[in-house]
Amino acid sequence: MDRVFVAEDNPSFQRIEERCLHCGVCLNTCKKQNNLPDKACLNCGACILTCPVGALVPRYNYKEVLANINDQEKFVIISVSPAVRVAIGDEFGFAKGEFLEKKLVGVLKSLGFHYVFDTTFGADLTTIEEATELIDRIENKQNLPLFSSCCPSWVLNMEMNHKDDLKHLSSCKSPIGMQSSMIKNYFAKLKAIEKENIITVALAPCVSKKSEIKRKGFEDTDYVLTTSELAMLIREKGIDFKNVAEAEFDHILGKGSGGGVIFGSSGGVCESVLRTAYFLLNKEKAPQDFFNLESLRTNDPIKTAEIDLKKFKIKVAVINGISEVNKVYSSLKDYDFVEVMTCSGGCVGGGGQPLVRTAEMPEYIKARRENLYHDDANLTKKSSYENPDIQKIYQDYLKYPGSDKAQDLLHVKYDVKELCK
Ligand code: SF4
Repeated sequence: MDRVFVAEDNPSFQRIEERCLHCGVCLNTCKKQNNLPDKACLNCGACILTCPVGALVPRYNYKEVLANINDQEKFVIISVSPAVRVAIGDEFGFAKGEFLEKKLVGVLKSLGFHYVFDTTFGADLTTIEEATELIDRIENKQNLPLFSSCCPSWVLNMEMNHKDDLKHLSSCKSPIGMQSSMIKNYFAKLKAIEKENIITVALAPCVSKKSEIKRKGFEDTDYVLTTSELAMLIREKGIDFKNVAEAEFDHILGKGSGGGVIFGSSGGVCESVLRTAYFLLNKEKAPQDFFNLESLRTNDPIKTAEIDLKKFKIKVAVINGISEVNKVYSSLKDYDFVEVMTCSGGCVGGGGQPLVRTAEMPEYIKARRENLYHDDANLTKKSSYENPDIQKIYQDYLKYPGSDKAQDLLHVKYDVKELCK
């Protein structure tokens, strides 16, 4: 192996030297997926999923989380990202990508978490803030295209390779960032819990999020656990996941709309933002085709569409894979909104997801994606602005999208590469 790309203190993942065969599969994966200069690392963890001997693993934090659960002074709150509920079963012999939301909540409660919330709530907040930002930029003809910023590896790529264009990145924190901010600043007050005694944990399909929370502005999340890390914890505790009692998410940060659920798939952020942007512009529900934007749901690495928002038409692009985005980067100026996810298929294919046979990975990703869209189709509230808990949080606390309070708690500024350590 001619380069060591996992720094010893990388917060996202680690290489176990004794297991490593120095075969270079990881480097080839990185080259194919990210096509970066030598020694550059986006922390996405694509290499973890293809290492034949498991020498690359997430940086584990579950022991610290357990220690906090055992501390009588602490309230440990976990929030679950959408893509985890369609992947955890892949570790325990369920059908590929089976949707196991209630079982997942049940197992987290049995592990002792004080509250179990749904990060789809944070995704709804991201949708509303990002749709507001998009409309503002279009109306003021400023800093277009707007680039999504939910994926920390994509943000890092911008900082490394396109630092003159950082103004195009949405200032919205990722759903995990927004969720934790609301837990520590809003929920803490609501429940009269000292902020210092709250420990926030994000359960995510993503190892890059372990780096994101080290960044300025993301301090409200204390730990990130990955899907594969949770599976390890379940086994260590001897819990029979197949037979664990099902449970519901806790209130008030515990339910998102269908728009929040589809964030886990490539194209989902864009579709969710468009549903809400239409409503914000016209004060009426978007037409039926906004609830199944087929052209943005394919498996193609680059998907585009022209969308009629009634007041104006916009052009959107959805890209999964950094190598793809860097190839077509100069043409992105022709669009108004661009969603980029680093991992294949979006977060359903994240580096923190269960290890499966590499050849079967596309089938797993397809099943996970379809099951998220299936849940969206079954939900009555499919748009973030329809979520009654979101309406309440704006009414009681944030006031309106883009307010000073929202800017303060839900947005960040991107400075020239402030690399995750
Ligand atoms: Fe993480 Fe999702 Fe980005 Fe992959 S696509 S690095 S899972 S945020």
